[in-house]
Amino acid sequence: MAAASAAARGQRVLLLEKNKKLGVKILMSGGTRCNITHDCDVKSIVSAFGRQGKFLHSALSALPPKEVIQKIESQGVETKIESTGKIFPVSNKAIDVRDALVNLALTAGATIKPEQTVLEIRKTGNQFQIETQTDHLECDALIITTGGKSYPGCGTTGDGYQWGQQFGHSIIDTVPALVPILNDCKWANDLKGITIEHTSVDIWQPEQNTGDSEVLTKSERKARKSRSLVNRDGSFLFTHWGFSGPAILDVSRAVARHPNRRSLELICDFYPQLSVGQLEESLRNKKTRNGKQQTGNLLNELFPKRLAESLIQSANIELESRNAELSKSQFSALVNQVKRCRFSINGTLGFEKAEVTAGGINLKEIDSKTMQSKTMPGLYFAGEVLDLDGPIGGFNFQSAFSTGWLAGLSAARDTD
Ligand SMILES: Cc1cc2nc3c(=O)[nH]c(=O)nc-3n(C[C@H](O)[C@H](O)[C@H](O)COP(=O)(O)OP(=O)(O)OC[C@H]3O[C@@H](n4cnc5c(N)ncnc54)[C@H](O)[C@@H]3O)c2cc1C
Repeated sequence: MAAASAAARGQRVLLLEKNKKLGVKILMSGGTRCNITHDCDVKSIVSAFGRQGKFLHSALSALPPKEVIQKIESQGVETKIESTGKIFPVSNKAIDVRDALVNLALTAGATIKPEQTVLEIRKTGNQFQIETQTDHLECDALIITTGGKSYPGCGTTGDGYQWGQQFGHSIIDTVPALVPILNDCKWANDLKGITIEHTSVDIWQPEQNTGDSEVLTKSERKARKSRSLVNRDGSFLFTHWGFSGPAILDVSRAVARHPNRRSLELICDFYPQLSVGQLEESLRNKKTRNGKQQTGNLLNELFPKRLAESLIQSANIELESRNAELSKSQFSALVNQVKRCRFSINGTLGFEKAEVTAGGINLKEIDSKTMQSKTMPGLYFAGEVLDLDGPIGGFNFQSAFSTGWLAGLSAARDTD
């Protein structure tokens, strides 16, 4: 997007890419379907990025989601909006999106050079000097879009941070975000491959035990109660090493950023469609009406058989006992297992498997109206190399596309 917008303004543009293949992250994104952006207005994108959101105002007005879609469709790639609001190519092929973006840049007049690793950048006078493994290049304006440091096998090894520092920028500590969570609960690990389409997950900070004698004010007691660090609804995947899926990825940043990760708990509501009261009533009805039935069938209408049975067993209920034999405490243990299932957290899968890097070039040192560095004229940053990370749903591409487009516009204008 940066190359396309700068070239469209008549500048000579060269895009250097380390890999042989262009847009590797696009190719692997959205389960190789590429969730391009989200069906929402600029305000919703800003709010999805939380405290970082206001940095995106100018970039999003330069290239809002609907214009991203127009540009991709202008290259013959139709798109569709799914019920979650996520936008994908109709073909479900990420390669179509990648090709559309490459064509946008090429037709605007940019030159693209794959297999060119930038090794060194210097500035002499008004010119940037760039060394790749084969070439020495000079330019008046330089846009760094090297991404974060997650999935380093894709070429994203955090190279942009060191150049940022070299030109006077500070780096906000980087942590893996949108990353699977590790847990070694055996019954849950045994459910590997099972997805629940709709769950509600919380990252919970257990209450600090400061002793019985402590006298708390009303507001302190209230603060103690609100210990959920983050809550998200969405699909949930059991794996052999823990948990993944959109709901988990979205809450993972709170885990990665936490100084004492192992103190945190994951609390899952596996059936948010029913309140605790409604679930209790439905189970109680089964107990009364189908007293002779085996308890192993109690949750069959709610979950796949393997998951239903595991939840029952993990509530210490024998699958072969009869519904009528269930004690009150077993009953509430089962309801608890479905509505407030607690898991310890052993960490995350780290940068190797994080979809996004949180942290990066400090936004305070970038002019959000142009994406130009405040410490080095002629230098611009865009995309994930910046301290920008959004939730699942196409928000990260949208942020990269918009900041890239604005950086290209500004760099082209400033070098006229
Ligand atoms: C598995 C996975 C799935 C994802 N799915 C989605 C999704 O569906 N929707 C969504 O919005 N986001 C998704 N993301 C996040 C999204 O891919 C990134 O946020 C986005 O690609 C960031 O764009 P970028 O241009 O800033 O950086 P990148 O796309 O990471 O591109 C940076 C490029 O710079 C190149 N580079 C780095 N250093 C050098 C160097 N020294 N010299 C030359 N080139 C260099 C790299 O090779 C790389 O190609 C996903 C990420 C992953 C890992």
